[in-house]
Formats: sequence, structure tokens, C-alpha cells
Amino acid sequence: MLHANVERLKASLVDMAKIGATPGGGVTRTALSDEDREGRNQIVAWLQAANLAVRWDDLGNIYGRLEGSDPSLAPVLMGSHADSVPGGGRFDGIFGVMTALEVARSIRDLGITPRRSIEVVDWTNEEGARFEPAMACSGAVAGRFTPEYIYSRLDRDGKVFVEELVRIGYKGDAANRPQAIQAYFEPHIEQGPVLEAEGIPIGVVTGILGLKWMNVTLHGVQQHAGPSPMRSRHDAMVTAGRIIAGLRDMALEYPDPAVATVGRIKATPGIINQIPGEVVLSADMRHWTGQGHEEMGTKALALIKRLAAEEGVKADVDVFWTCPPIAFPDSMVGLIERTVRDLGVPNRRIVSGAGHDAQYIHEIAPTGMIFVRTIGGKSHCETEDIHWEDAQAAADLLLNAALELAR
Ligand SMILES: [Zn+2]
Repeated sequence: MLHANVERLKASLVDMAKIGATPGGGVTRTALSDEDREGRNQIVAWLQAANLAVRWDDLGNIYGRLEGSDPSLAPVLMGSHADSVPGGGRFDGIFGVMTALEVARSIRDLGITPRRSIEVVDWTNEEGARFEPAMACSGAVAGRFTPEYIYSRLDRDGKVFVEELVRIGYKGDAANRPQAIQAYFEPHIEQGPVLEAEGIPIGVVTGILGLKWMNVTLHGVQQHAGPSPMRSRHDAMVTAGRIIAGLRDMALEYPDPAVATVGRIKATPGIINQIPGEVVLSADMRHWTGQGHEEMGTKALALIKRLAAEEGVKADVDVFWTCPPIAFPDSMVGLIERTVRDLGVPNRRIVSGAGHDAQYIHEIAPTGMIFVRTIGGKSHCETEDIHWEDAQAAADLLLNAALELAR
């Protein structure tokens, strides 16, 4: 088995973490910001130093190509994203880009020229923290969004995506998008506690949870808190409370990793001595199978309807986003699993609870993901951290698996 240089990978991650560094040890490197530009400049410099041919496309996705002996063959693509959420961590996204870079450097060091070309990629605006939607530019490459749609996105200050892309100097040519992709690998931190709890460094990702997002508007009767007897009320807030607990209990009827979360609630008028007339709450539900994903949605609607009726409250439910679960192909899951076993690294299969660029690229190419254990399961925060031995395992795994397909 071949090995990557983890000291060099570590040094690159440490250097990248200085770009947009926050006082608490994290990074703020939102898409198309000055910090993103600085990060991109650094990535481009490193790709060039590794003797890769660098280009970027009309969406600012950056590619570094290690040319194979038969350049006519579709390349093996590997990477992730360099943008972060505000006050994010040093590993989410950038870990995948730096690991891919390290693998390319290691292939150079080993003096190997694979038959297929191998390309490192940094996808623009994965987080969606500045410009919605998330995974915008891998989605565009997969044909989900037109460039016009992406270009017209606005941030909170009214700045336009395309103007910011031009401003930082990374609006390239559409012809620079990958024409065909033999396979795509994305290494990423797990962002959850499962691997750590089991003492396992590497997760072989089998797919991504399907997701439903809904808004529930509860119309009760707004009344004064004092003179309204308890038995006469149509209380939207009490209904909301029962729904929140009910959705939690419903999700608990399924094994892991099914989840349901209410993260947002707004009561009107929202004052201490008034029974609110209206409460709006969000619900986020996720399941790993198509059937379970649909069933959770149906059960949630029935639950909301029943509880609202019991409270004499009217409920309007708006399911405004549905994303079916994804299963990565057995060929990619099997290759990653075999390779990590051959390396002698403890591993387990795992389903990703969060979305990644891999979910769109999966639509146009065989795709696989590699998770590394995340300390304390913490992510999207300044204390996000990993063990360097795990980074070694992930880089070795990517090096051997990517070469297997490219040789
Ligand atoms: Zn990410």
C-alpha cells in the first residue's frame, strides 16, 4: 500500500487555517469573500507547485489536473470545498481539498504517471452561508442549476454572486468544467459523534440521508392570559409544544440515523400575558431509505393534524423542500471499504446526515465519500478538530483508491 505525507498535509491545513482565522481558533472564509480569494490564491499556488495544470470554470470551481498517460480518458476527480460558514472550523470542506492536494503531491513524489488523469477540485459556495442555495456550483456542474440562476443570487447585503465572483478574479470559462468524470471521491469530516463513540477513525459513507423541510403555521385564538379559563382556549403555543415533542418521539421510533428537529419557532404577538394567536415552527426530518423518508413525512402530517384538532387549532403545513436519500454505488463503497481494510485501519459503514457536493456529483458520476472522525462530533464551530493519525488514514485511503481507478 502507498502512503501519503501527513506532515505536509498537516502543514497545508495549518496554513489554510490562517486565512480568515478567527480569535477562537476557527475560520470565517465565506464564499467569494476576500478571505475566499486569498484561500483560492493559496490553493492555486500549491496546485501549480505540485506541477498540476490549473483552471477554473464559469462558476469559479477550481481544478488542478495531473495529466495521465492517456489524456483522452475521463479523469478521476477528488476534493471538496474551501468556503466555510461564519465562525466555522478549520476542517469542514478544506480537509477534502487539502487531502486531495496531498494525494496529488504524493503521486508526483512516487513518480507515478497513472493512465487516467487525476484532478483535484475545490467547489465554489458549498455552504450556502452567504449565497443560497448550498452546494450551488457542484449542483450547477451536475445540471441542477443554470449559471444564470447562480449568478443572480444575492447575499444579505444585496451583493450579486456574479459580481463578487468577477471581483475576486475567479470567473472562468464554462469549457473548463469537467466534460466527463470517471469517478468522484470526497473526503470530509464526519461532523457527528458516531465514529468517535465507537473509536473508529474512518467512515465508509454509503449514502446521504433524504430530507424534508416544512413550515407549520398554527392558527389559534389570541386571548388575554388572565381572564381566559384554561378549558376554553385554542392555544397555538401549547399545540406547537406538543408537535415538537411528538416529532421527536416519532423519530425515536426509528433506529439511527433517522432524525427530526424543530429548530425555529415564532409566536405572534409573542408577549408574556397573551395566548399567541399564531405560531410558526419549522421541521427538518431525515431518513436513509426512500420508503422511510416518505413514511416520516406522512406520519408527521398525521401527527400535526391530530394534535391541532385536539387543541382546536387550525394547522397549515407547507413542505417546501424534499430531497430523496442517496445511495452511493456499490462499486465505490466497495472500493473504499476494501482499500481501508487493506490499510489495516478500523472502519465502519455510515450514512451522512448532512448534504455534501458529493450528492450532486453522484448524479453525473460514480461517487464515494470518506469520513474522518471528528473530535467531540463538533462542526461548524471554532473548536472543530480531528486527530492527525486519522488524516493519515484518509489520505492513504484516497491515494490508493484513486490510483486503483486511474492506473
Ligand atoms: Zn462541508
